[in-house]
Amino acid sequence: MADRGVMPKERVSCAGLGAADTGRAVRLAGWVDALRDHGEVLFVHLRDVNGIVQVVFNPAHTPAPVCDLAAALRNEYCVEITGRVTLREVGTENPHIETGTIEVVAETLNILAKSKALPFQISEKAMVAGADARGAGTVGEDLRLQYRYLDLRRPGMQRNLIMRHRIVKRMRDYLDARGFVEVETPVLTKSTPEGARDYLVPSRVHRHCFYALPQSPQLFKQLLMVGGLERYFQIARCFRDEDLRPNRQPEFTQLDLEASFIDEEYIYEIIEGLMTEVCALGDITLSAPFARMTWQEAMDTTGSDHPDTRFGLRFVDATDIFAGTSYGIFRQVLEHGGRIKGINVKRESERLSKNVLQNEYAREIVPSFGARGMTWMRVTGGTLESNIVQFFSPGERDGILERFGAEDGDVIIMIADRSWQVLTSALGLLRLHLAGRLGLIPDGMYRPLWITDFPLFEVTERGLTSSHHPFTAPDREDFDPKDKDVLAGLRSRAYDLVMNGEELGGGSIRIHRAAVQRKLFDALGLTQDEVREKFGFFIHALEYGAPPHGGIALGIDRLVSMILGTPSIRDVIAFPKNRSAYCPLSEAPSAVSRTQLAELGLVESGSGKWVLGKKIM
Ligand code: ASP
Repeated sequence: MADRGVMPKERVSCAGLGAADTGRAVRLAGWVDALRDHGEVLFVHLRDVNGIVQVVFNPAHTPAPVCDLAAALRNEYCVEITGRVTLREVGTENPHIETGTIEVVAETLNILAKSKALPFQISEKAMVAGADARGAGTVGEDLRLQYRYLDLRRPGMQRNLIMRHRIVKRMRDYLDARGFVEVETPVLTKSTPEGARDYLVPSRVHRHCFYALPQSPQLFKQLLMVGGLERYFQIARCFRDEDLRPNRQPEFTQLDLEASFIDEEYIYEIIEGLMTEVCALGDITLSAPFARMTWQEAMDTTGSDHPDTRFGLRFVDATDIFAGTSYGIFRQVLEHGGRIKGINVKRESERLSKNVLQNEYAREIVPSFGARGMTWMRVTGGTLESNIVQFFSPGERDGILERFGAEDGDVIIMIADRSWQVLTSALGLLRLHLAGRLGLIPDGMYRPLWITDFPLFEVTERGLTSSHHPFTAPDREDFDPKDKDVLAGLRSRAYDLVMNGEELGGGSIRIHRAAVQRKLFDALGLTQDEVREKFGFFIHALEYGAPPHGGIALGIDRLVSMILGTPSIRDVIAFPKNRSAYCPLSEAPSAVSRTQLAELGLVESGSGKWVLGKKIM
């Protein structure tokens, strides 16, 4: 029988115990992670936020009433236990848990709260060496989100949130050390254009008026620069009512920052330093300075403004080779001002057989990317082989071999299209498809990249829109706001940060003179009244000695997800919405009473609950 001394009042963590604690009396509290009943003896894995320790209820050492009480334990009961640390017998150690060389022989048990039967398994640690520890990996996501408080008990989820905290804290410390001040900007505000729809909040006091939830703190951070703060940052919640996509949340968090009297180089340097520090927390080594690529080069060589540079497969332009071609399809494309581009897939002719190229890629895959067709050639014996090379002249064939640097075993795929957009987009998707299929993306490689020199405007059917937002400085200010051709050729002083093909953030040097800002709104086709109504307060502020300034915002959810390698950004957000912007836990969004709507002046008064304009209660 163990010597039953007075038990300590202070609780210790389950995780910290080891062989050096042998004989120590301890008080533990946490959740029953798993149970193993050996007839007389009951083994319990007790889990707290730091880790797991095995507790033993053994009638030889534990008082009988305590053993009786322990018999009622079930998974996820919340308990407090006191006991004594003992070394496990040789051969019974558990390598799955850090405290696996010891166990705690229970002396008292206090059931703090019982738990109902669980909707899914929480435990991720097997109780005996070599056993399977499944965890909740296969549980449907909506069930996990409905019981998020249980899902969050899983050590993997807790680790994600703790790491997120560390990453954000490191950002704060890093920026604080460089003179940046964290300032909160309003959530009930006026619409800021970031290209998405606003979430609106009706005002009760101001009848039929609405606040907009911020798509970003853009205007306020610029006003802070006018306010002379010089260095601002914020861990800012942003709201964008956009079309649903797998890795998108209606509300998300940005590291938002802005600085005065700076240029692009300052932003690159500060962000490269910050990224290097926070990525190191996830054992990812980045080396600064990061690579840079102009938007034009990115589009021309990868078909994407957020290219994955972990592998090659860059596009090669072959348009001029076919300038005088008699091959009908190419000739027609060229006559309509189109282009011909291709990719050399080096040494893959074995895996890209004729059958794969013709029946999968040419017939199915490439048409599904929007291009009408593709042309393939395999290189053997120093010449091109395919079903169409017979239509190419010897000069054209030599031109291809040379332009693509072709060697035996290579596969050249070309797409010709009248539209540059269709061509680059389809070839870009093909590039990613090939890289995935052929396993060309190395594990554990991280390639940050700045994309620069974006077009200032995008030309759409409805006219010009800003590629970023209308506060981004153009590369020159002497443009005529009515000359559409000049406008379409303007570049912006914007930059995006991309890593491994994902856009992590973006920003720009801003317009800081009211006259230029007015000119830009003019170019966008806004009338003076529209400008006054939407941005009057902002332009007005620019008239009071606004300093030159610029900034950037990084998506924290995405960045943390990438650093931790989680399958979804929802794994690094405590209470995310599901893929249809719905919260299975709180059931938001939900119907409200007609009284509430009437109070807001949105409907006439009455009673009952309304959904989509229909009374449901
Ligand atoms: N407000 C921009 C965004 O949210 C970032 C910036 O320009 O600083 O994308």
